[in-house]
Amino acid sequence: MTAAEQVRNPQAIFISGNEAVAMAARDADCRVAAAYPGTPSTEILEYLSAYPTVYSEWSINEKVSLEVAIGASLAGSRALCAMKHVGLNVASDALMTQTLIGAVGGLVIAVADDVGLSSSQNEQDSRYWGRFAHIPVLEPCDAQEAYSMTRFAFSLSEQFSVPVLLRLTTRICHVKGLVRTDASEKTVARFFNKDSSRYVMVPGNARNRIPLMMQRDKELAQFSESCELNRFEPGQDRRIGFVTSGAAYCHVRETFPEAPVLKLGLSHPAPIETIRAFAQEVDQLIVAEEVEPLLETELKAAGIQLSGKDILPRIGELTPSVLRPALAQLTGDTCTTAPATQNDLFPRPPTLCVACPHMGIYYCLAHVKNTIISGDIGCYTLGAGQPWNALDTCISMGASLSVAQGIDKGRSEADQNKNVIAVIGDSTFLHMGMQGLLDITYNRGNVTILLLDNRAVGMTGGQNAPSSGLDLHGEETIQVDFRKLCEALGVKPARIHEVNPYELPVLFKALREEVKQTGPSVIITNQPCVLTERYRQQPVLAVDADRCTGCSNCLDVGCPAILVERRETVIKPNGREKQLAFVKIDSAACTGCNLCINTCGPDAIIPLSRDSRINAVEVSA
Ligand code: SF4
Ligand code: SF4
Repeated sequence: MTAAEQVRNPQAIFISGNEAVAMAARDADCRVAAAYPGTPSTEILEYLSAYPTVYSEWSINEKVSLEVAIGASLAGSRALCAMKHVGLNVASDALMTQTLIGAVGGLVIAVADDVGLSSSQNEQDSRYWGRFAHIPVLEPCDAQEAYSMTRFAFSLSEQFSVPVLLRLTTRICHVKGLVRTDASEKTVARFFNKDSSRYVMVPGNARNRIPLMMQRDKELAQFSESCELNRFEPGQDRRIGFVTSGAAYCHVRETFPEAPVLKLGLSHPAPIETIRAFAQEVDQLIVAEEVEPLLETELKAAGIQLSGKDILPRIGELTPSVLRPALAQLTGDTCTTAPATQNDLFPRPPTLCVACPHMGIYYCLAHVKNTIISGDIGCYTLGAGQPWNALDTCISMGASLSVAQGIDKGRSEADQNKNVIAVIGDSTFLHMGMQGLLDITYNRGNVTILLLDNRAVGMTGGQNAPSSGLDLHGEETIQVDFRKLCEALGVKPARIHEVNPYELPVLFKALREEVKQTGPSVIITNQPCVLTERYRQQPVLAVDADRCTGCSNCLDVGCPAILVERRETVIKPNGREKQLAFVKIDSAACTGCNLCINTCGPDAIIPLSRDSRINAVEVSA
């Protein structure tokens, strides 16, 4: 915050959109909050966990988190669940029924779309769920609106007895802004009111609720026409006018400060008649929406002339560098700025962390031939990249096991002798993978499962899960015993192994033995994520330059602490060229996990203090 901004806003605080949502929930007297970590929404629950008035939990998946919030709402409390866009696919089963039941205590679903695919397996537009589930969608454009719209969402939910979708995007979640908060409120005490005709959605009851939902749609559409969240901003230049929402609004405002804008805060149901009137006042109406042409399609169906995705891209954010050239023909703008690309950056492949316990697994998988490897969602998805190339599929959370089962059952003659392997992390296994294992055992699948237990949700920053033995607040709770769990799901005890992933010979032995077995096997690794407090650093290693032959075997581990110092090309006795890579170890990064030692035939990797000739990287203070 600059000094000038501070003077203008003495009461305002400088926080991210995620923090604003958490603060607003607390101030709105939300009593229960639940989530499964997922970038970019993760921090909402991390911030909420600091407020003692809100019960908060990491749930094992998004469907469970929504069901926890639903239960709290039915009990009369205000409740919030948070998730990223793909999480709502998981939670949608509960959502599609809850829309019939409605809300008692305000029920808010904060969904963060990863527009531009910073860290997700797909780009999707969660506003579709608003249409599909007949629920209102609120779209804040900055941290201030993230705060005020979250407050509004609780009251809207109670006013219309409807779950409310708060659609965030990565830019809203993570960008900080000045936020003014309002006085916190105290909701009236309610209680669980038995009402099986409303809460028990057997077909007869559900059928009766559908007309009520349709009626609610009409009332919400009427409400949208006069809702203060849908704001008209007159401009000087009437050649083009914009209907827009969320982060796209800020980009439009920055790019075309003179253009009239109808900013939609309550973007579904859209205020169709308000937009129709606005269209009459400008030469050309543009719908600027990130990602899908949802509103555009609705408005065209209502007979409103406009442009949208015929001019604007359907992928990624509508930043000024995208908007300006896309609309240059309409505005007469001579600016021909090309959309920003990342081509100026030196290409760096994503990689696992130094000493990550998954590296040993991928080193083995890369060296075991004749495999089909089904992967999953988490940091271990990076095993698909260099130097391992050790994943063949990655679809969705928990899919590795069931996809492996399908590969096993659907394999053709050409794949009969291939070993089918599934790789999954501990948190992902608990999220949605357990069902896949049960399917494999129940249906006599022939899959070797690598259950990589690093006792954290590693990809999103090491959050706790039932595998860590700690809850969201860092307090001790039950710790899942994966061996017993796998046994309970039908794996024979003799086919379950627990191994240290840094001990390559043990890993190789377990893997080579188990892929030969008929029926399911589970190999569980037991070392924590290097980024958690549970990880213990060992004495650092270094490379003895006199012994290093440049064979580059250690580079196959993929540890970022091992660096190539010098390359050489030599001619072998058979006349062929051979590339050598002489390495060094970054002593500032190495944690001494000892994984690389096993890969070095000449024993050139040694403890840093053992030999003064070692080739450790000097680290400036
Ligand atoms: S494995 Fe050993 S000999 Fe080969 S490059 Fe690495 S340190 Fe040198
Ligand atoms: S011991 Fe080897 S694998 Fe482990 S962190 Fe150090 S350089 Fe990396």
